[in-house]
Amino acid sequence: MAHKFTFYNTLARRVEEFVPREEGRVSMYTCGPTVYHYAHIGNIRTYIMQDVLIKALGFAGYDVKRVMNITDVGHLSSDADTGEDKMVEGAKREHKTVMEIAKYYTDAFFADFDAVGNKRPDIIEPATNCIPEFIHMVDTLLKKDFAYVAGGNVYFDTSKLKDYYVFSSEVEKEALQVGVRDDVEEDPNKRNKTDFVLWFTKSKFEDQALKWDSPWGVGYPGWHIECSCIAMKHLGEYIDIHCGGVDNIFPHHTNEIAQSESYLGHEWCRYWFHSNHLNDKSGKMSKSKGAVLTVSVLKEKGYDPLVYRFFCLQSHYRKPLEFSYEALDQAVAAYGKLVKKVAELKEDGPVDEAVKKDFEGRFADAVCGDLNTSMAITVLIDVLKAETNGATKLALIRSFDRVLSLDLEGHAKSLSEGTSVDPEMESYILDAIERRANAKKNKDFATADAIRAELLEKGVEIKDTREGVKWQLI
Ligand SMILES: [Zn+2]
Repeated sequence: MAHKFTFYNTLARRVEEFVPREEGRVSMYTCGPTVYHYAHIGNIRTYIMQDVLIKALGFAGYDVKRVMNITDVGHLSSDADTGEDKMVEGAKREHKTVMEIAKYYTDAFFADFDAVGNKRPDIIEPATNCIPEFIHMVDTLLKKDFAYVAGGNVYFDTSKLKDYYVFSSEVEKEALQVGVRDDVEEDPNKRNKTDFVLWFTKSKFEDQALKWDSPWGVGYPGWHIECSCIAMKHLGEYIDIHCGGVDNIFPHHTNEIAQSESYLGHEWCRYWFHSNHLNDKSGKMSKSKGAVLTVSVLKEKGYDPLVYRFFCLQSHYRKPLEFSYEALDQAVAAYGKLVKKVAELKEDGPVDEAVKKDFEGRFADAVCGDLNTSMAITVLIDVLKAETNGATKLALIRSFDRVLSLDLEGHAKSLSEGTSVDPEMESYILDAIERRANAKKNKDFATADAIRAELLEKGVEIKDTREGVKWQLI
């Protein structure tokens, strides 16, 4: 029996108890990255909170299967067929082909995705792998009379639906209708303002990079169709949980539901999980405001990516989170304190199973109760303060790390092995080792010896080994 699990279901507009279609199993779909640019730390916050959701479901006793798409069809950053193809824009900027751009940013995305302790989805599918599936869905929607061809493009006809704005209350619906009227650029082919393109053959882009044959002419899929098709390809006609950021709710997820349920003829996904924005002092993080702040950039500045994860876990996924270096520095200090406390623990006897069960129950209540990650960290701090032996505490820290993935124990180990120094000192040592290697390469042994002496004076001893130069504090 799985632990009772609740989270905020955007479709129901309230916190609900999660009940999957099949007992003990969860099928989950996550909207993946668009790979024409870097994913900023706000995007990564969304993936961290989804990772905690998956691992908390695992902790509660569920077996989760998760699918994610990679948006490598260039233009797919908005509904509007305007501006320049983003993939081409990226390719021009960096003098690469569009597929090289997609590969480069996919790799960069997963480097950051992995660095913050996320588990990779079971299936990762690039949109460009699924063109026949997109064409089949568009064709079926046309046959079922949910779509029409106009001006060379295929559109979804939103007037065919009883309720298009599925996520919104009546009040929000009115506001959205006004917003749609004002926002969407006039497309004379559309029968209704909210109609959206399923397949483009007439693009305003001068040099659309990726094009495929279709029954409606050479073109490319609309923005929303890929998620519906990729989800169905791997998870079948039903999914339990669909995840994304709050900015996906409208129009992306709204349109995904419209086309999927019209295609299938029944309800598609009952639970929708959305996490909120990361802001900085100037407002919402975005890719368009110049330099992109990524996890890799934080790493270059000396911040451990897992400290960024810790920073995110301290706040609730449904609240906007404000990023600043001062706030991140506070997380560094708090994380460091936890690591130090864990480093002091010893495997000093048998685990007290009753204490362990009690704390695990409190931890499960926190993470399974609308993903209360800050409460989960409080339970972790309580474990470190508890009147019990080190072995029990270590067992609990390992148990909680199945969900939190903060690797406190790993960091504690390197601390107690004495190889850990502050980042400034570490970069000084590594720099000195490099200078010495260069000197030796140039047969300048006097300089090499002087660098060794300089390090020794600072309490660092270096040794030349078969695996390279090793250093230790003395
Ligand atoms: Zn999506």
